[in-house]
Amino acid sequence: MIKKKVVMLGSFAVGKTSLVQRFVNSIFSEKYLTTIGVKIDQKIINIDNTEVNLLLWDIHGNDDYQKIKPAYIMGSSGCFIVIDGTRRSTLETGIELIETAKKTAPDSHIIILINKSDLKEDWDINDHDINEFKSQGFEVFETSAKTDNTVEHAFTRISELMLNK
Ligand code: GDP
Ligand code: MG
Repeated sequence: MIKKKVVMLGSFAVGKTSLVQRFVNSIFSEKYLTTIGVKIDQKIINIDNTEVNLLLWDIHGNDDYQKIKPAYIMGSSGCFIVIDGTRRSTLETGIELIETAKKTAPDSHIIILINKSDLKEDWDINDHDINEFKSQGFEVFETSAKTDNTVEHAFTRISELMLNK
């Protein structure tokens, strides 16, 4: 079976762990659990009758971004850049992480997730910011790990890109 490494990149508390847990285990927790190290979850997804085993790499830690080492990103076929729609600083971090990803894994497919869409009235990221990403050729999804908005779709889409569909 085809195996593909996908990494979750983003500032702390943007929802990286929550998105993986929602997708893999269909659960959401309000608790903010920090663990040291990298956790790798797996899920098999079917794309046009092709089974793909997604290896989902999630860094745990209270300052995830500072701890990102090249080995975390190397060998990945897909990178999710996760941004918290309610915290503009996480957009700046996301932009830096796009550059890191491009340098470390040039062939990796990047998708941008603006997470916490259930809190959209509190967002300080707007359509202009999203269109800026789109004009650079990125696909952008507004997700919520809490309400399960667009989560499965985002993982399906990155799988399609990784299979060149
Ligand atoms: P990580 O540090 O990027 O892995 O972030 P977590 O997944 O641990 O989430 C950080 C906090 O944000 C936790 O309290 C989660 O419950 C919360 N959270 C994550 N995703 C969402 C979401 O889509 N909506 C809301 N309202 N809260 C979320
Ligand atoms: Mg986490």
